[in-house]
Amino acid sequence: MKVMNIPYFALQKTHDPMMAELDAAYQRVMEREWFIDGQEDQHFEKAFADYCGASCCVGVGNGLDALRLILLAAGIGEGDEVLVPANTFIASALAISYVGAKPVLVDPDPETALITPEGAAQKITDKTRAVMVVHLYGRVAEMDGLMQLCREHNLLLVEDTAQAHGADYKGKKAGTFGIAGGFSFYPGKNLGALGDAGAVVTDDPEIAARVRALGNYGSTQKYHHDFVGVNSRLDEFQAAFLSAKLPHLDAWTAQRRAIAETYRKGITNPKIRLLREDPGCVYHIFPVFCTERDALKEYLENLGIHTLIHYPIPIHLQKAYASLGYVRGDFPVAETLAETELSIPLYPGMTEEEIGYVLDALNRF
Ligand SMILES: *Cc1c(COP(=O)(O)O)cnc(C)c1O
Repeated sequence: MKVMNIPYFALQKTHDPMMAELDAAYQRVMEREWFIDGQEDQHFEKAFADYCGASCCVGVGNGLDALRLILLAAGIGEGDEVLVPANTFIASALAISYVGAKPVLVDPDPETALITPEGAAQKITDKTRAVMVVHLYGRVAEMDGLMQLCREHNLLLVEDTAQAHGADYKGKKAGTFGIAGGFSFYPGKNLGALGDAGAVVTDDPEIAARVRALGNYGSTQKYHHDFVGVNSRLDEFQAAFLSAKLPHLDAWTAQRRAIAETYRKGITNPKIRLLREDPGCVYHIFPVFCTERDALKEYLENLGIHTLIHYPIPIHLQKAYASLGYVRGDFPVAETLAETELSIPLYPGMTEEEIGYVLDALNRF
């Protein structure tokens, strides 16, 4: 068999066909010579709010800031607890820590790798103020149950939508279920800028106004400061690049879904487990699970197939969170996912030959 070289992700396959659009975006900003808080930002915010089906969008510096500004705007801080899945990317938990609140971890469902209403319910105390739902891998959590839980216990629902641009649950887009959704446009995300960028999407104009002020030195009027804010804004270049890319997002998602469908149907190796099917998933990541994960990773590497692990160490076993006092065994599902997960190549522009090669390799393992 001919050995191919299959990257984990290939950004140039999305950028090359639209280079003229990206160049035009760059030229527009250069000619205007206005780099922060201008027309490009306004235009993208409106377009992205419309795309999500929300009334407000506020551009910010990155995904972590989107989440921490939502929590600050909601008044969450010292003495509060926020529930968050144990298997998420560290940024979800860091956002909670940054505002002075305590991340309280929840073990996910092994079939979806997501937080569930039942799992979250077990961790509610009289200090719990919010649930941060993370739509990991691009699949939306069980929102009906989670919204009901939040209503019953008077908790705020915050969505970490960094991996789920355009993902839907019963026809409604991720990021529009709670008080606000925090998006990342890190270059490798489904909608990626050409640098760091993020956004907060919300239907609550007060949250939007507070996030905007907090991200702009706590100011609504130049040199008048109402809050102790930070500097976290979406710059004009990134907004212009994102506006150029947004019209392509649905086509990229359709390609991701088609590749995922081929993988789902084609993977027949009994040693490889997949998550439960979800038609609303946007497949930011295509995870497979294998008890011999490290051997599988090495075997694929030798065949030229590059893979990643999302994520090798769950939050409770990270050094940064030793102070939470958790030990190995506290979150058995998150631990098993971390030991067995492998993310296989999936990107817009991936060819039939490449997909077939990956499938064939997986089935021969
Ligand atoms: C990428 C990511 C973030 C953070 O986004 P940045 O823009 O890198 O700060 C937060 N949560 C999840 C789940 C992510 O994947």
